[in-house]
Parts: sequence; structure tokens; C-alpha cells
Amino acid sequence: MNTCKPLPYLTGYPAALIAQVRQLIAQDKVAELLRKRYPDSHDIRTDKALYDYVQDIKNEYMRNAGQLSKVMFDNKLHVLRNALGTHTTHSRVQGLNLKAKKEIRIASLFKDTPPEFLRMITVHELAHMKQREHDKAFYQLCTHMEPDYGQLEFDLRVYLSYRDAGGGKLWGGVDAGLNGAE
Ligand SMILES: [Zn+2]
Repeated sequence: MNTCKPLPYLTGYPAALIAQVRQLIAQDKVAELLRKRYPDSHDIRTDKALYDYVQDIKNEYMRNAGQLSKVMFDNKLHVLRNALGTHTTHSRVQGLNLKAKKEIRIASLFKDTPPEFLRMITVHELAHMKQREHDKAFYQLCTHMEPDYGQLEFDLRVYLSYRDAGGGKLWGGVDAGLNGAE
């Protein structure tokens, strides 16, 4: 595995922590650590199932945050360009009210992850329905929906760094590569 290149998914974390992750990658220990911490994979395979899954979490925590128009897995979201998910707002004028319909796209790599990672990215995208920026209020909202959010986001970033360094898929079926077509 290439262990010299930068770890773009961990930009912003403390240097000591990044050095630790780099060492774990170099020593080939990431797979074992992550599999031990997250032994299961989820079974959400279709956009319909994903929509219901996201809608359930939204109903529990963000009932008043507008309507979800569309939820889908997107295999064109290249995670190497740091697009973990996207959230777009389509505004249309309806009478005197400006109604916003939200669309959530989740990178297809999340099909083959533990349930914890799918929940983390879902919470992240839902939080964007209220908070545009990755600011303090945004992370407070994420943590409100998922108390372990910070740890999960970090562990996901460790997984992406490991994949970026050439590591294979740790959950789910056949490995199609990090940006492989489904
Ligand atoms: Zn975001």
C-alpha cells in the first residue's frame, strides 16, 4: 500500500492522530481494527429502501425540515473528490410561499458499509437540510441525531484513507474498486 501520499480524508484532524492512522495503514492493521469495531453490514440495497430508511430518521428528528423529494445511491459521486454525499435544494415558487424540495444523494460505496456508516452519512445529509455549512450548529445537529457522530465520521474517514491507499473493501460483496461502477 502507498503510505507516503497525503491522507486527504483526514485534513483538519490533529497531526498526531493523522500520524497514528498513517502508521496503522503502513502496518496493515486498519482492516482488522475496523472489522472488529463494525462487524456487520447493512442490507439496504435499493433507492426505495434507502428513501424509507432516510425518511424514518428524518421523521424522528427533523419532521419540520421540509420535504424530501428524492433519495438515491449515486455511483457517480466520486468519493476521492471528497463527495461523501450531496444535498441539493430545488426551490420553486408556489403561491406566495417559497417551497423547497430536498434531494439527497449518497455515494454508492455506502451500500457496502456497516449500518453505523450509513447512519452517519444520512444524519450528515439530513443536517444539511437545516445547516448549510459545516459549522458548530451543523455538528451539534448531527450529534443530536447520532450521539456517536464524531467517532463515526472519523472512523469512516479512516476507512476511506485505507481504501485510498489501496486497501480492499471490508464489507459487502464483490470489490469493484473505490469508484467502481455498481
Ligand atoms: Zn456536508
